Amino acid sequence: MADPKGFLTTPRQEWPRRPVAERVRDWNEVYVPGALLPLVSGQADRCMDCGVPFCHDACPLGNLIPEWNDLVSREDWRAAAERLHATNNFPEFTGRLCPAPCEAGCVLAINQPAVTIKNVECAIADRAWEEGLAPPAPPDRLSGRTVAVIGSGPTGLAAAQQLTRAGHTVAVYERDDRIGGLMRYGIPEFKMEKHHLDRRVAQMRAEGTRFRTSTTVGRDVEAAELRARYDAVVIATGATAWRELAVPGRELAGVHQAMEYLPLANRVREGDLESSPLSAAGRHVVIVGGGDTGADCLGTAVREGAASVTQLDIYGRPDDERDEDAEPWPTYPKLYRLSAAHEEARDLRTAPAADADARLFAASTLRLTGDADGRVRSLHLVEVDAGRRSVPGSERTLPADLVLLALGFSGPGRGDGLIDQLGLELEPRGTIARDADFATNVPGVFAAGDAARGQSLIVWAIAEGRAVAAAVDRHLTGGTTLLPAPISPYDRPMTA
Ligand SMILES: Cc1cc2nc3c(=O)[nH]c(=O)nc-3n(C[C@H](O)[C@H](O)[C@H](O)COP(=O)(O)OP(=O)(O)OC[C@H]3O[C@@H](n4cnc5c(N)ncnc54)[C@H](O)[C@@H]3O)c2cc1C
Ligand code: SF4
Repeated sequence: MADPKGFLTTPRQEWPRRPVAERVRDWNEVYVPGALLPLVSGQADRCMDCGVPFCHDACPLGNLIPEWNDLVSREDWRAAAERLHATNNFPEFTGRLCPAPCEAGCVLAINQPAVTIKNVECAIADRAWEEGLAPPAPPDRLSGRTVAVIGSGPTGLAAAQQLTRAGHTVAVYERDDRIGGLMRYGIPEFKMEKHHLDRRVAQMRAEGTRFRTSTTVGRDVEAAELRARYDAVVIATGATAWRELAVPGRELAGVHQAMEYLPLANRVREGDLESSPLSAAGRHVVIVGGGDTGADCLGTAVREGAASVTQLDIYGRPDDERDEDAEPWPTYPKLYRLSAAHEEARDLRTAPAADADARLFAASTLRLTGDADGRVRSLHLVEVDAGRRSVPGSERTLPADLVLLALGFSGPGRGDGLIDQLGLELEPRGTIARDADFATNVPGVFAAGDAARGQSLIVWAIAEGRAVAAAVDRHLTGGTTLLPAPISPYDRPMTA
C-alpha cells in the first residue's frame, strides 16, 4: 500500500467509455483507448491492503488482488504481471468481461465505492503484452503423456495451457473454424476485440499446444477412438443447449435464438460474411430475456441499425442499492446495472414503448403473431407480479419483425453424439456428472466448465480449466501435481 490514505483522498474512477454517438458507429471496444493507464495507479492506491482480503475469496481464481494493487501503485508492472499471471491465464479476458464479484466483496464496498479491481487487472494485462512481459512459457521437458481437450472456450484453453506448460502433449479439438468458444462467436467485439484472443492462441501455439479446428468430436472423430488415442481426455464443450420460448407463434420466420444471431454478426466482423442474413437493420427488434446475452443482442442490433430495440425481462426492476438484509456484503448483489449496451439504448431512445434504457421489466411474452407470409410482426406481452401472475389489464403489443430469444442454456448439447458414444453419466439437470477430482464415470475422461458446472462466467471457466488441469496432471503422474486448483467442482459463487 503505497499511500495509506489513498482510499480517503482518491474517489473511484472507472475506465471512461467513448461517447455513445461515436461508439455505435463502429464495433471497437467501448472504452476510450489509452485512458485507463493514467488513472490506474491512483485507483490501485485506494486498496487498503486489508488483513483479510475478502476480494480473494470473492474471485473464483483467488487472484492476489492487494498484492498487485500495491505493485501497480508503485508502477512495478513486471512484478504485477508476474503475480497476476500466477493465478489467471487470461487476465485481459476477465479484465474486460468479468462482472467482478471481487468488487462486491471489496472491504471498501461496505461503506464506499469499491476499488476498481477489474480495471487494474486489465491495465496490468495490457501493459504486460505491450512490454513483452507475457512471453510463451514452453515446458523444459516433455512428460511423454498426451491429453485431448474437447472445446476451445476459456475452460479448454486454460486447461490446455496449464497441461502444456506441465510438459504434457496437448491437442485441443474445436468444432468451430476458429478457437475461442463463446468468446469468439458469442461475445461481441465491442465487449472484447478478438485480437486479444488471437494473441493468446499464438502464445499457446508457441508453447506447443496443438489446435484441431473444424473437428466435431462425436461426428468427425469417434469419441471412443479419441479416448483410446490419448492418455486423458478433458471435455470442455460448454453449455450450448439453449432454452426455448414455448408460446404460440414461436415457429414464425424472424424468431431466432441469440446464439443463432450473435455468431453471424461476429462472422461479419471476422470478414467471413459481407452482411448478416439475420441483420437487425431497419427492423423492430424485441429481445426476450433480460440477461447479459440479451444485452449483447441489444448492442449488436443498435450497431446494425435497428428501427427499434426493446429488451424484455421477466423479473422486476432490481434495486439501485444493495439490500443489506437480503444480500449482505460480501455477496454479489442483484442490482440495477447499466451496461454499455443499455447506456447506448437509453441515449438513443431505441425503445419508444419501454423504460428509458430499452428494458421492459416484469414482462412475460404471451404469443407472437405474423403476416400472411408467416413472418413475425408483433409480440404480445403482459406484466407479471413477483409470483409470475399476470396483472389484469396490462396486456400490450409491440411491433416485432425480429425476435431474439436469450433465455439461457440448460447444459451441453447431445446432437454431436459425444456424450452417448462415451456413455457419460449426466446430472438430473443435464450437465455432465463428475466426482471431486473432475473425473467422469469413464476412466481417464474429465469434465469441466459450463458443460459440467452449467451456464456460468469466464472467470469460473478459467478456474475450472486450471483445476481440471491439476486433476489430470495428478492422474497422469500417479498422484502428485504442482499445478494449482483454485476451485473444487462443488464451489459456488458467494451468495446470501
Ligand atoms: C452471448 C454470451 C455472452 C456472454 N458474455 C459473458 C461476459 O461478458 N462475461 C462472462 O464472464 N461470461 C459471459 N458469458 C458466459 C461465458 O461465455 C461462458 O460461461 C464461458 O464461455 C464458458 O466457457 P466454456 O469453455 O466452458 O464453454 P464455451 O465457451 O461454450 O466453449 C465450448 C466450446 O466447445 C466446442 N464444442 C462443443 N462440442 C464440441 C464437440 N463435440 N467437439 C469439438 N468442440 C466442441 C464449442 O464449439 C465451443 O467452442 C456469455 C455467454 C454468452 C452466451
Ligand atoms: S477475474 Fe473477475 S473476480 Fe477475479 S479479480 Fe478479476 S474482475 Fe475480479
